[in-house]
Amino acid sequence: MEYKLLDGKAESAAIRAEIRQEVEQILKNGGRRPSLTAILVGDNPASKTYVANKEKACADAGFTSEVKRLSAETTEEELLQIIRNINADSGIDGLIVQLPLPKHIDENKVIATIVPEKDVDGFHPVSAGKMMLGQDTFLPATPMGIMTLLERNRIETKGKSCVVLGRSNIVGRPMANLLSRKGYPGDCTVTMCHSRTKDIAKYTREADIIVAAIGIPFFVKEDMVKEGAVIIDVGINSIEDPTRKSGYRLVGDVDFERVAPKCSYITPVPGGVGPMTIASLLQNTLKAYKNRK
Ligand code: NAD
Repeated sequence: MEYKLLDGKAESAAIRAEIRQEVEQILKNGGRRPSLTAILVGDNPASKTYVANKEKACADAGFTSEVKRLSAETTEEELLQIIRNINADSGIDGLIVQLPLPKHIDENKVIATIVPEKDVDGFHPVSAGKMMLGQDTFLPATPMGIMTLLERNRIETKGKSCVVLGRSNIVGRPMANLLSRKGYPGDCTVTMCHSRTKDIAKYTREADIIVAAIGIPFFVKEDMVKEGAVIIDVGINSIEDPTRKSGYRLVGDVDFERVAPKCSYITPVPGGVGPMTIASLLQNTLKAYKNRK
């Protein structure tokens, strides 16, 4: 089958250009720049890269951004106090705390301390609750980016059978919720599979749309996918590759080479969901800015 690539890199670039134009217009009209603060605790290499990418995207879009880099020894109370200060800072529109946090810090407590008005990651219980109820709120960036990717590629979702692999709070669970929403994109019949699901292939083989978010390289194989399926690969896994200068390369949760020929649409890794996540974060920050005006 002739498959089409869902080009997240190109869609993200288009969205980012639209945001940049909007910011230019705001500045022309005498407004201030939208502003995002990110907190990074410790030195997890993947987290450092993600935060650096977000910082660069903010600069490109014309946002003001600041990264607060804190040592891994930062106490929970110190972190909570920094968040409270940012909550009260009228010059800051959005606040994100890069996860995972060091073990001695309670992630739930940290997320709940961010004021919902600045929760541009959409992880706060108020944001999650509103999403669940279909109310206007900040949606988590990765599932939001996937919805945008489906929408901008006009992929039919109504009545489709969809399997989400993974049930994390940041990807799988919100993804399942959004796909089952009334309207477009949405109106899917969703099955959520996870580490305790028996015979995952039984579900994926029937699926019109598969979203893979588990973090296991090449988990989705060609015999698990029906002809013509739409495949969204969220996974970012680093595997050894001696042919590369770095000694490794990034792959998704899907065995792309073998699965792609069976698909109608598929996202590449890298260049699929990852860039859409960044675009969504910028959209949410701009939304937070506008909400405050
Ligand atoms: P997580 O580790 O929090 O959750 C993984 C989920 O996979 C769990 O719900 C678990 O039940 C399920 N799972 C684990 N083993 C399984 C198995 N054998 N069979 C079925 N399900 C299984 O991960 P996460 O934060 O949701 O991230 C998932 C992947 O997506 C990771 O590779 C991560 O790096 C990537 N990710 C990418 C982006 C992006 O922007 N592209 C954003 C977030 C996460």
